[in-house]
Parts: sequence; C-alpha cells; structure tokens
Amino acid sequence: MKRIEPANLYRNNDKAIGVGNAFWDLSEHNGLAGIVAELDNGVLRTESGHEFVNFTCCSYLDLDSHPQVIEGAVAALRRFGVLDHCIPRGRVQIPALLELEASLGELFGADVVSAISAGVASAGLLPLIASGHLGNGVRPLMVFDKYAHLSLAAAKPTCADESEVVTCGHHDLDFLEDQCKQYERVCYVVDGSDSLGGYAPVEELAVLQEKYGLLVFYDDSHSISAYGERGIGYIRSHCPVLDERTITVATLNKAFGSSGAAIMLDGYPKETLRIIERFAGALSYSQPVNTAAVGASLASAEIHRTEELTTLQQRMRANIELFDSLVKTDQTGTSYPIRIVPMSDETVIDAGRRVYERGFYVSPVFFPIVPRGTAGLRVMLRAGQTAEQIHALGEVLIEVGALPQAVGE
Ligand SMILES: *Cc1c(COP(=O)(O)O)cnc(C)c1O
Repeated sequence: MKRIEPANLYRNNDKAIGVGNAFWDLSEHNGLAGIVAELDNGVLRTESGHEFVNFTCCSYLDLDSHPQVIEGAVAALRRFGVLDHCIPRGRVQIPALLELEASLGELFGADVVSAISAGVASAGLLPLIASGHLGNGVRPLMVFDKYAHLSLAAAKPTCADESEVVTCGHHDLDFLEDQCKQYERVCYVVDGSDSLGGYAPVEELAVLQEKYGLLVFYDDSHSISAYGERGIGYIRSHCPVLDERTITVATLNKAFGSSGAAIMLDGYPKETLRIIERFAGALSYSQPVNTAAVGASLASAEIHRTEELTTLQQRMRANIELFDSLVKTDQTGTSYPIRIVPMSDETVIDAGRRVYERGFYVSPVFFPIVPRGTAGLRVMLRAGQTAEQIHALGEVLIEVGALPQAVGE
C-alpha cells in the first residue's frame, strides 16, 4: 500500500496535537478545563454549586451582557423576522448586513465588510491578497510575523498555493525592508496589538509602506473597543497610512461584546468589495452574521458613540492599575488587559487549582504550550470586575506564589 509522507511546510498536526493535547488533558484532569457553569450577575456557578469570577474572559468592557446589547439582539430578530435568510448575499439579502456595515463604517471611519468571525475573515482575505486580487494585481510575497495569531498563521498553506510564504521574526523590520528591495510587492501579516501588551510598529511600517508600497494586514482583534476614541482600536488610532495599503480585521466577539468581525478597508473600489463578497472563502459560501448578532452589534456600536464607552474603558484601565498595584508581572504598567503571573512549570497547575477553589478562574499556561521558564497564570482584567474581587484575587495569587508589587515602586 502507498503510504503518504506529509510535506508539513506550513502546518503540522502531529506536532500541534503532540505538544498541545497533554497540556489540555492535564488542565482538564485538574479541573481547570472542561468547566461548565451558568452565568448569574457576573458570577459563574457550576452544577455542584461552586461559584467563581472569571478572570480569563476577553469581554474586556462587559458589553456582551449589557442590557442594551441583549435587547438589540432580540429587537433585530423581531424586526427582520428571520435569524438567517440562507442564500449567498450576492444574490439576495435582507438589509441587515448593509445596516450593520454602514454603522460600523461610520464608527471606524472605514469601508466595512462583515464576517461571522475574524478567523473566517482572515481565512478568506489572505489568499485573495496572495493572488493579487486584493491589492494592485501583483502577487505579493506573504510575510507572516512569527507571533501572528493562530487564525492568521492557519492561512499559510492556502496563501502558499497562490504565492510565496515566509515567516519572519517578531516585528523584524530589517527583514521586511530586505524583502521589499527584492520583491515587486510584499504583504506583512501581523497582530495590531499582541497578547502580551505590545503593539505593531505602525510608524516604522508606514515608512516601508510609503517607500516600497508594502501592504500590511493587521489583526486588531485585541484592541478594538478597549482602545482609542470610540473604541476604534490601536491601528485606526495610530496607523499613518489608511488607504489601500492597510487592511485591518477585528473580531466583534471580544471587547465589542457581540458576535462577528469587521474587515476595515480604505480606498478600494466597489468592484473589490464585490470580489470579497464573492470569493473570500466562507464569506461567499457560508452563513453571514445572523440578525441577532447584527442587532447586538448595532446596539454595541451605539454605546461606542456615547460617553459610556469612555467610562467603561476608564473602569477597565482602573482595574488593570489596581491589579498592577497588587501583583508584579512583566506586563505591569502596560495598557493591555492581560497579565501573566509567573509560576514554575511544576507549581502552576496546583496554584491555578487553589485559586479556583477560592472563587476565581485564571488559566494556567505552561510548557509545552509556552516555552520552559515562562509558565504562569493568565489573568484578564475587565471593566465589570469589582475592586473587592480584584483585591481578593491579588491576595490569593500572592498566597500561591505570586510576587507582590513592592510598595512605592
Ligand atoms: C481572539 C482573536 C481572534 C479570533 O476572533 P474570532 O472572531 O473569534 O475568530 C483572531 N485574531 C486575534 C488576534 C484574536 O485575539
């Protein structure tokens, strides 16, 4: 019988599952994964009655449970009278998506195309960029940042079938410039804000964009809503080049508090937007954002237009600062809502279990999911956590081995 030898040039399931599954099994075995709990007023309760506050939830502004957002979902479902009128939107569509895209377009100051998730948006767009159909017609060398989110890296094999793909060091501008000198066109794929508090070097990248026509594909999922005036995110706040050389996707599932994703474009003609609707993978053949999610997003967008958004952002920042005043981490002082409380690979699971028993969920990350020596408990701060909860969590973390923040430091 013929036996298949995989190429594994851009993905490797043997390795991913071999490395990752033991981590998940150990987490689940220790009660720190596979948890089922009902949400009641900000507190989760398991069937056996254990109550805890979730400190690993990405809804940084708690908009996902905001009464207006929930009402918005229900009202839209009633108004449109259908959850998903299932037919490709290019043929027939109810006005729901157009209304959503007009609202998000006004909010973010861009031409917005919607998708059911950022992962689906990127999986659809990146191959179109690789083939030159979203851009100036030239197939660009696709340069993926080493730390680009999994949803971006997953597009490497499909991009490689349309163009050439390379992976570069994190924010390696010298490498990028070198490629720009050699290739007709280059596209750099990178997170706008990465999960440990760093932001993409938008100014330096803009220099390459101006000099060489570099195309940059940003995934700003982590800073949308949480960052910037009206929550426009880091890229729309700071990127100096907002034209066809910059493409941004952002999830609406995290701080935005609803469901779906926004693709933000500038300067592309209508025909290109049609190409996206018709050929960007699942955008063309799978379900669009359903009307409940459209209604939730419209309501969230309205909140983004009011002072309430600023208040929620301030509350989130105050909670981050309060946590930083209690527990020392490498991220202390950054504006990003995630902290990794360092622990050893040997103690982190036990520490996570003790914290959970005391009423807080924080997720342990350890080797082999992260390199040896960088294990820790991942803590995410949100606007809706109370000062009492954060103080109590800080105390428990210190009991299980976290370093207290030195007073006056
Ligand atoms: C969470 C996250 C995603 C996934 O977003 P979905 O809309 O759920 O697909 C994609 N990219 C980044 C950078 C993320 O942080």
